[in-house]
Amino acid sequence: MTHVDLLIAGAGLAAASLIDELRDRGDDRSVLLVGDEGERPYERPPLSKEVLLGQEPVESAYVHDLAHYETHGVQTTLSDAVAGIAPDSRRIQLASGTEVGYTDLVLATGATPRRLPIDGMDLPGVHTLRRIGDAEAIKATFGEGRRLVVIGAGWIGLEVAAAARQAGTQVTVLEAADVPLQATMGAELGSYFARLHTSRGVDLRTGTAATAIEGADRVTGVQVDGKTLPADTVLVAVGAAPNTGLAESAELDVENGILVDERLRAADHIYAIGDVAHAVNTALGQRVRVEHWDNAIRQGKLAAKVLIGTDEVYDWQPYFFTDQYDLGMEYVGRGLPEDRVVIRGELESGEFLAFWLRSGVLTAAMNVNIWDVSDQLRAHIGREIAPERLADEAVPLADL
Ligand code: FAD
Repeated sequence: MTHVDLLIAGAGLAAASLIDELRDRGDDRSVLLVGDEGERPYERPPLSKEVLLGQEPVESAYVHDLAHYETHGVQTTLSDAVAGIAPDSRRIQLASGTEVGYTDLVLATGATPRRLPIDGMDLPGVHTLRRIGDAEAIKATFGEGRRLVVIGAGWIGLEVAAAARQAGTQVTVLEAADVPLQATMGAELGSYFARLHTSRGVDLRTGTAATAIEGADRVTGVQVDGKTLPADTVLVAVGAAPNTGLAESAELDVENGILVDERLRAADHIYAIGDVAHAVNTALGQRVRVEHWDNAIRQGKLAAKVLIGTDEVYDWQPYFFTDQYDLGMEYVGRGLPEDRVVIRGELESGEFLAFWLRSGVLTAAMNVNIWDVSDQLRAHIGREIAPERLADEAVPLADL
């Protein structure tokens, strides 16, 4: 049986970041990276943006070329899966049957798009979006005269709606809540995003749920409110579930992700990072599972530092970004829909800052089409700041 110092299950962004940090710090332990997609690590954000818009080739999404891993002493097995873990004897079994011993194991298995428990989910023409092949298949359906129905007005659903509209596709978005993105943005800013899409010709229907997807050989429509909405393509974008099956079978603690402490430890010599990790965040004072690009990178780096023996913990505010039409935004922190929202600037100008306040304390901030301010905004999270100062464009961000 072969043995490696570090075995990483899941070849996504978090895994790539972990490897980069180890090698950048001169750590030369033996590493085996196991992935099941037949792909080396790549970034997923372009799959609903530049790649879907045809602005960038798929190749631009890869973190490194394959040779990079070899030259950095990383073994890769990219078309197999870690199928079982024996924590006591520190061994894993691959789906192909091979057993490998490890000193440390990092679970970076990501998440899988949720499906809807309605008829028609498996019809050809019904998609979810997670992988390169999904993006290529969805992109091929765009064009004048084509009809796309997006179920779910979350970030991915809205980004795909934007890309599809820009390619001339007729787009209907169905959202069960009354206002899209309300759980993150609150009602005022959720409505702002709704207007962004309706002004671009998206038929956005809120407070409504698809009850079935119709079609014989392939999708022809979506049943909504007892009527059929014709569709050539359907995207189901209703969130993602963490890939915890492997951890569960090894009897690790799992609850909305693999439970890990502030050093990303799930058990002796086992760690979890990225979308799959439900981790203690010391800045927020609570456990969070964050499905964002920045978190995958930072937790990858943190795991490397923990493995090396650096005394660092998961102590940063979450961050994410989106691009839709000509809107680009960054959001840092963790607001709640009931938080007070303060706007600096005019929403309709398309360039503004938004702040979330809970009991007078800044919980989150967002910059829309205003750049190079995110780090400044991050520095103010957790501080008590008067709403008037937040709203006043004459007060420099540095002086808030
Ligand atoms: P993943 O990237 O999912 O990688 C996990 C890998 O592990 C996968 O390849 C999976 O197949 C593999 N795997 C699972 N089980 C096993 C096993 N047993 N053995 C071997 N391999 C296994 N975030 C933002 O902040 N901004 C954005 O604009 C944004 N856009 C996005 C757009 C799309 C379309 C998607 C899907 C995500 C987007 N995200 C965005 C989220 C971001 O991409 C994720 O947070 C990030 O990819 C998580 O990285 P990860 O390494 O944890 O998981």
